[in-house]
Amino acid sequence: MKSNFIGGAWVDGASAVDNINPSDTQDVIGAYAQADAAQARSAVDAAAAAFGQWSLSTPQQRFEVLDKVGSELLLRKEELGDLLAREEGKTLPEAIGEVGRAGQVFKFFAGEALRCAGEVLPSVRPGIGVEITREPIGVVGLITPWNFPIAIPAWKIAPALAYGNTVVFKPAELVPGSAWALAEILSRSGLPAGAFNLVMGRGAVVGQALVEDPRVAGISFTGSVGTGQQLARACVARGAKFQLEMGGKNPMVVLDDADLDVAVNCAVQSAFFSTGQRCTAASRLIVTEGIHDRFVDAVVARLRQLRIANARSAGTDIGPVVDERQLGIDLQYIAAAKSEGAHLAFGGEAFGHDAQGHPGFYLQPALFTGTHNNMRISREEVFGPVANVIRARDYEEALSIANDTPFGLSSGIATTSLKYATHYKRHAQAGMVMVNVPTAGVDYHVPFGGRKGSSMGPREQGRHAAEFFTTIKTAYTAP
Ligand code: NAD
Repeated sequence: MKSNFIGGAWVDGASAVDNINPSDTQDVIGAYAQADAAQARSAVDAAAAAFGQWSLSTPQQRFEVLDKVGSELLLRKEELGDLLAREEGKTLPEAIGEVGRAGQVFKFFAGEALRCAGEVLPSVRPGIGVEITREPIGVVGLITPWNFPIAIPAWKIAPALAYGNTVVFKPAELVPGSAWALAEILSRSGLPAGAFNLVMGRGAVVGQALVEDPRVAGISFTGSVGTGQQLARACVARGAKFQLEMGGKNPMVVLDDADLDVAVNCAVQSAFFSTGQRCTAASRLIVTEGIHDRFVDAVVARLRQLRIANARSAGTDIGPVVDERQLGIDLQYIAAAKSEGAHLAFGGEAFGHDAQGHPGFYLQPALFTGTHNNMRISREEVFGPVANVIRARDYEEALSIANDTPFGLSSGIATTSLKYATHYKRHAQAGMVMVNVPTAGVDYHVPFGGRKGSSMGPREQGRHAAEFFTTIKTAYTAP
């Protein structure tokens, strides 16, 4: 059994669960420990005890730890990518790319540890100096979802440690393998015992224990809206800092003047790759009259060519859905769209086996046309390979439909018009705007996050990560 990592030691869980491969449900990857609430609290004990030492470590010490972790991730990206594809179901190239991204994130924050600058200003009063510095916030609880099993943990753990915080990390139940592998690398990185802790287990038990513990100064969470809102209430009640990245219902507008190939590539990649299981997936394709029919025909032609198969097989374009529960949700939304009168232009069929007969949660990507923005399929996040096309009269109507959503994470447009691209960048109500590039797929050195119901609290990634993982001190000195 793979154990939890608490206070610098590997500790068995209160129980264990099997990690199952969604491409072949007969393939058990291994048994992973499940912590209980008492173990989660003992991880907080360890992190609290280590805070004094790690918060006073030098930038050079932090640089060396993070740089070492980054180097090992980059070196082992093929092996760890295979594990990731096996437990989560994204294709091998996507999974290897994700591990590489995690390595780059650690390298970036290794550098940030050296660049944690403050400000010096003259006071408005004579003879006084003012210094503004950043300090770590304390013990942080990091709670992550299953869809990016190593990149999201990396972009929370690396800045947390770079700025001198100590960490209790609670990965998603479905993907303990990548989390454990990352923890194992961190266990050999030169961190003091207790500076980093891994507690695997159920959200309602382990996650909840972290959220409620008064010694946890901040919670950085990525996951669903429902869990995020519950967590926010608990953090407000006890005055803890929080950062939430939640769902999306991201639009991609296609204008008459778009380059058709660019528009189709962006739409297919954004909506369906990684099995549509990305918070930045474009699930509403808002298309103006003049290009609508050509666009739909070209997307359907492209979907026909895609190979839906075992995530680890060569030539697979789209792997399986992550588990039976998520497949059930996807199928319910497909049924709901049909019953609301949407036309299924392609796909939507589940098939229980790959070509070799391995049982898995396979689903053909589903494209709906003849939809409008008030249907459930347009309002609620599916989190699967399901997208719908909404016809718009012109740019103005397309923009208004794009913004008519409770979410605001990523918003895309395909156009060759500088005028519309410029206007869209300014008026799209989203944290990230994509012009002629897919809505999913971001850089690691710039802020990531959304508006409205998608996010709450400071941005993640890039140097803006300091806003959550540090607190500011203003010091006045009269010599
Ligand atoms: P989820 O909310 O079910 O779980 C996320 C994490 O929260 C898991 O580790 C889970 O164990 C934990 N959790 C569950 N209940 C908890 C509780 N009561 N207290 C504390 N922790 C608890 O989400 P999921 O199904 O793992 O992930 C899918 C969701 O994540 C989608 O809605 C997707 O849009 C979102 N997501 C958002 C982003 C983003 O950056 N905006 C990125 C990836 C995924």
